[in-house]
Amino acid sequence: MIKIEHLVKNYGSHCAVDDISFEVETGEIVGFLGPNGAGKSTTMNILTGYLSSTAGKASIAGIDILSNPIGAKKLIGYLPEQPPLYLDMTVEEYLNFNYELKGCKLDRAAHLEQVCETVKIKDVYRKVIRTLSKGYRQRVGIAQALIGNPKVIIFDEPTVGLDPKQIIEIRNLIRGLGKDHTVILSTHILQEVQAVCDRIIIINKGKIVANEKTENISNVVANNRRFNIKISGPQKDILALLKNMQGISYVEALAERDGDAYTYMVESEFGVDIRKKLFFTLAERGWAIIGMESLGMSLEDIFISVVDKSEESKVRTNVRNRITRRQRGKDKNALEQELGATLYEDAQRQRAESMNTVVEDDDL
Ligand code: ADP
Repeated sequence: MIKIEHLVKNYGSHCAVDDISFEVETGEIVGFLGPNGAGKSTTMNILTGYLSSTAGKASIAGIDILSNPIGAKKLIGYLPEQPPLYLDMTVEEYLNFNYELKGCKLDRAAHLEQVCETVKIKDVYRKVIRTLSKGYRQRVGIAQALIGNPKVIIFDEPTVGLDPKQIIEIRNLIRGLGKDHTVILSTHILQEVQAVCDRIIIINKGKIVANEKTENISNVVANNRRFNIKISGPQKDILALLKNMQGISYVEALAERDGDAYTYMVESEFGVDIRKKLFFTLAERGWAIIGMESLGMSLEDIFISVVDKSEESKVRTNVRNRITRRQRGKDKNALEQELGATLYEDAQRQRAESMNTVVEDDDL
């Protein structure tokens, strides 16, 4: 239904979207996931005909967006990050305005009624949009996207700025729409795509770094392996114990002290949940765990795990060594960015190696 081929977008000398290709099948809900600045909005804006591309092709149901934008736009309902609402209109006026703008041929009263029913805004139909809550405004934005019954619906960061209850409602609404539509949902929130999407495409620095079924990525995330643990007892002995414990791939004593307790960052081997073993081993020696905090996984962690699970710890060790060597004089943010970039480079390198292809540094 949606096909993107070798799409590139440069803003001056800055490459925001760097030769990406992907397809979305009819009836799929696909999450387009990436950190801020990854290139999600740029891709969505090209896909919906709001922006031109520097190179590459994008088509909806075989209609090329660049050569036939009007034909392609008829198939798309779009909710941009900032919904294009006219705040002084009532919901009724706004939806009628959009109905006319789109040149919709469906029976007006029945269609608008059905749209309002779907997004549950019948009770505010005669209200001025300015007076509505953020959650209701977002629903009105979705209603606008549904006018004309488009086959494809594209949501750009649909839950930003909503409260937790509104977030759940909007996610349920999107999931419901997926029954009859092809949906792309762009977001920087991993849990959002996990909750709603069939497939996840991860974009980072303008490149696609993973394109996987949600359950595959969820398995990786569920296997959460990094946590900080606060243990009361002698730091040197505890560190030695942790370093030699089977199942732990990395341990580091952090510069945090709480009475006689110290904090350690522990990372277990892939597929190992080390927490119970840790608890009993430490308890046997009379060293008490007084805190444990899961560190979660960054998008970089996830995509590298997805790219190649078996090679992961090798890569991570290489990366850590390289970062340590480069560490002098850099702040934490720069280091984190570097970690992301280096993990990405390694993922690319492994992929190329597995295909017996030579990758030049310039390609990375
Ligand atoms: P995302 O939606 O993933 O946060 P964007 O597509 O908005 O990412 O941005 C991708 C990159 O392109 C970012 O580095 C951003 O600063 C840059 N960018 C976006 N829009 C413009 C623009 N109009 N002019 C110049 N650079 C832009």
